[in-house]
Amino acid sequence: MNPFEQHLAAVLDERRALSRYRVRPRIDSPQGPELTVDGVPYLAFCSNDYLGLANHPDVALAMREGIDQFGVGSGASHLVCGHSAEHHALEQELASFCGRERALVFSTGFMANLGAVTALVGRGDHILADKLNHASLIDAGLLSGAKFNRFLHNDIDSLCSRLSKIDSGRTLIAVDGVFSMDGDIAPLRQQVALAREYDAWLMVDDAHGFGCLGPNGRGTLDLLGLEQDDVPVLMGTLGKALGTFGAFIAGSGQLIEALIQLARPYIYTTAMPPAVAAATRRSLQLVAEQPWRRQHLGELIARFRAGAEQLGLTLMPSKTAVQPIVVGADADAQAMSHALRQRGFWVAAIRPPTVAEGSARLRVTLTAAHTNNQVDALLKALAEAQQELRKEPL
Ligand code: PMP
Repeated sequence: MNPFEQHLAAVLDERRALSRYRVRPRIDSPQGPELTVDGVPYLAFCSNDYLGLANHPDVALAMREGIDQFGVGSGASHLVCGHSAEHHALEQELASFCGRERALVFSTGFMANLGAVTALVGRGDHILADKLNHASLIDAGLLSGAKFNRFLHNDIDSLCSRLSKIDSGRTLIAVDGVFSMDGDIAPLRQQVALAREYDAWLMVDDAHGFGCLGPNGRGTLDLLGLEQDDVPVLMGTLGKALGTFGAFIAGSGQLIEALIQLARPYIYTTAMPPAVAAATRRSLQLVAEQPWRRQHLGELIARFRAGAEQLGLTLMPSKTAVQPIVVGADADAQAMSHALRQRGFWVAAIRPPTVAEGSARLRVTLTAAHTNNQVDALLKALAEAQQELRKEPL
C-alpha cells in the first residue's frame, strides 16, 4: 500500500477502536425541531438555530428575492467584484445593531477568527486564549506566529499570571463569549479590566451569544452590560441564532480597514452569495423586532434545567441554549444518544478530542422553535434512556 493510504488506514482504524469515528447524519428536511434524518422523523435538540430562524418564511423569501436580484453566486472575492450592495448593507446594519463604527462580513466564523487574529498579531506578539476556546481560535493562534499561551478555563488568576509575565510585543486575549460545548459564559467584566491594566486587546468570539443573550439580543456583552469599546474585537456568526450563514467582525473603523488590507481569509476567498446577505438582513430585523424569541428560549432553558436536575442528570453551569448533559465515558454518551434516537429524539453525543477525556456528553441545545411539550417529551425520554442504560442516575 502507498504510505499515504497506509497512514490514513491506521488513523481511521485508531478512531474506530476508540469509538471516536465521526459520521455525518444525512438530513432530509429543513432545520427545525422536527428533523428528518436518513428518512426517519425525529424531534431534534442539537442544532444551533437558537432562535428558530433557519427556516423562517420571511428569511427564506428574502433569500429568494436576493437570488432574483443578484443571482446565485457572488462570483469573486470582496476586493475583486464580489462585494454586493447586500453585503454592504448587512455590514452597516450589523455595525449599527452592535453599536460599533463598522463591521466586516466573512464567509464563515472559522475564517473570521483566522483572519482577525492573524491580522492583529504575529511573531514577537502574544496570544492568551482560554483553554476551551473554539478550534478556530486555537488554529488562528497557532497560524499567527505569535507566542500562543492557553489559560485555565474562565480562570482570572491564570490569565493574570500569564499577562504579568509578558514584557514585549502586543497581547491579544481571545475568548469565546459562550463556550460551545459547555454553554457557560466568559467572565468578561474581569477580563476587560485585566486587558486594560496590561494594555492588551480583548477579542470575543460570540458565536453562541450573538442574537440570543442580553435585553437586545446583542450577545454576551449586552447581557453583562459592557460597553462596546470594552471589547475592541467582537466576532459573531450568522449561521447560528441568525439562521443563515457567515460571520462578522465588528469594531472601530480602523480595525475593519486594517482587516480589509491584511486578513487573508477575507481577501483570498469568494464572498458569500449576496442572497445569503439579503436573508441575514431580514433575520437581523427579526432578532430586533421579536424579543419573544429570546424570552421563550429563556423559559425553555429554565424548564429543561429544572426537569433534568430532578432526574439527577449532570448539567453544566450554563444559562444559555447550550445545555450539555455530562455522561463521562465515550461509549456511554453514544449509548445514551442511541437510546434517545430509538425513542425518536436526535441529540448528538460529543466526545474527545472535541471535549476533555472522560467528559463525553450529550450536547442538548434548545431553540425558540421548541415548545414546552417538546421539552417535557425530551425529559421523559432522557429518564427512560437513563433507566435503560444504568438503572441508576448517570
Ligand atoms: N466560533 C465558535 C465558538 C463556534 O462554535 C463556531 C462554529 N461551531 C465557530 C466559531 C465557527 O463558525 P462557522 O460555523 O461560521 O465557521
